Amino acid sequence: SAPLQVRNVAVLGATGSIGASALDVIARHPDRLRASILAAGSKVDALVALCARHRPDHAVIAEASQLDALRDGLRAAGLSTQAHAGEDAITALAGSQACDTVVAAIVGAAGLASTLAAARAGKRLLLANKESLVLAGELLMRTARDSGADIVPIDSEHNAIFQCLPDAHARQGLKRIVLTASGGPFRGRPRHELAGVTPEQAVAHPKWSMGPKISVDSATLMNKGLEVIEAHHLFGVPRAQIDVVVHPQSLVHSLVEFIDGSTLAQLGLPDMRTALAVGFAWPQRMASGVAGLDLLQHGRLDFEAPDLEAFPCLRLAFEALQAGGTAPAMLNAANEVAVSAFLQRRIGFLSISALVEATMHALQVSPADSLDALREADAQARRHAQSAIPQLSAA
Ligand code: NAD
Ligand code: MG
Repeated sequence: SAPLQVRNVAVLGATGSIGASALDVIARHPDRLRASILAAGSKVDALVALCARHRPDHAVIAEASQLDALRDGLRAAGLSTQAHAGEDAITALAGSQACDTVVAAIVGAAGLASTLAAARAGKRLLLANKESLVLAGELLMRTARDSGADIVPIDSEHNAIFQCLPDAHARQGLKRIVLTASGGPFRGRPRHELAGVTPEQAVAHPKWSMGPKISVDSATLMNKGLEVIEAHHLFGVPRAQIDVVVHPQSLVHSLVEFIDGSTLAQLGLPDMRTALAVGFAWPQRMASGVAGLDLLQHGRLDFEAPDLEAFPCLRLAFEALQAGGTAPAMLNAANEVAVSAFLQRRIGFLSISALVEATMHALQVSPADSLDALREADAQARRHAQSAIPQLSAA
């Protein structure tokens, strides 16, 4: 689209952490960006408050029973925003003329349908919902290629790689991708010290402020595992050319190495508004509200190898990518069930990886040749993981 055309942006997951960062960047650029659709899961009051501030054309709440509450709230606030409810309404709006740009920031596999709809409709897709790539990466990338949708990854690591490898020309001679990981709140702890950690400790991330699910994923290193699979799909790189290195300062967001010995990296403060500004403005640049990096103030950058014994989820994700087919979909689904059970204090921290591993071992991998096959694998893994929880909570 033309440089000074205003982008109409759908923010899906508007009440979340990425949603807040996206709306912050949008509000800084009224001449270039406007929020035309805001969607959220179940928090009507928070959604109405965002509508009062950003005045979108449409507001959608996923929870169908909340339609009246949303309509009443918008009316009471004196807004002309149209109210909608249900996941199908989010999906329909994401592919509609009411937006040209979609921030896909719903958490979990619940974001797949709207992400696919945006890709199918050829939108500029700012893709934070990494679970949709893990679940249906080939389908999503093919759909975007066929429609001409631009995908800009909104994950700090993949946004860094995107900036280092903006086009096919830049990828010549690529040798490997190195994803950095903060190591999460339990970095350096041996496995036996992790049995009793609480949800509060797990979500207290040292460097990033994020939603609860991704915060637990960062604590188990499953987040890095999901990101390995994400990188494979986004950049078409095989598992053997993707490495992970722990970097506790979270200033180097990832690196790419070429056959001539060159390594390129992207650095910046850990604040997702930088990645979102790249997504909105690319190939241009726009201010994000994030300050530049003062290397003298930070002083040092450390790197260490990940501990796969204490954090087996990273190994399980590498194995799922290697197995291919429906294995990553099952990994993701079992992990969503396990993280939610951990947050509800039904299972312990170490049971998250145990539940994922048991599910992966119990189920047969099949080819990921259709959306139905992937959805079925997702549902089967959820059922299996759910049914295994009582034994784990008794233990
Ligand atoms: P969050 O929990 O803060 O927000 C999730 C949003 O999704 C909320 O607005 C919630 O209302 C909405 N939602 C939940 N279930 C829904 C449903 N069924 N239908 C519609 N909406 C639903 O999560 P977050 O930290 O903002 O993360 C969002 C996504 O971005 C995740 O996939 C995460 O992995 C990814 N991501 C986040 C960060 C970060 O810094 N927070 C970084 C990289 C990637
Ligand atoms: Mg990340």
